[in-house]
Amino acid sequence: MSSASPVTLSTRLSRAVRLRCPACGERGVVAGWLHLATRCPACGLRPDRGEPDHFLGGYVISLAASELVAATLWVVLLVASWPDPSWTLMQWSAAGLMIAVPVALYPVTRLAFLAIDLTAQPHRPGDYGTDEPTFR
Ligand SMILES: [Zn+2]
Repeated sequence: MSSASPVTLSTRLSRAVRLRCPACGERGVVAGWLHLATRCPACGLRPDRGEPDHFLGGYVISLAASELVAATLWVVLLVASWPDPSWTLMQWSAAGLMIAVPVALYPVTRLAFLAIDLTAQPHRPGDYGTDEPTFR
């Protein structure tokens, strides 16, 4: 009798933050800071799930995280420097963060979207299929 419980979203997200495969929790799904492996070396899951535009989900998470960080910094600087805020500092620091945060969080946001996607749709045809995209 199998007593395996389903993997929760929080477990999958925790694995993503630690740069592990959201499906199995093993290392090796990140091939470089700006590249995911073609497949998880442990379970064989394709991080793009066979879709050429799967990165767009990670892009949305990255955009939201960047906006949140920049807006938070902007408010902190505004409050800290009130009544004479440095508009130039606020403008350029927010712009710099909008570039730096997506690069800094790239593999995490890609794997976080994969974690969400795996929770919403646990099994799809492209997950372990060939290296060719299943959708064109
Ligand atoms: Zn895996």
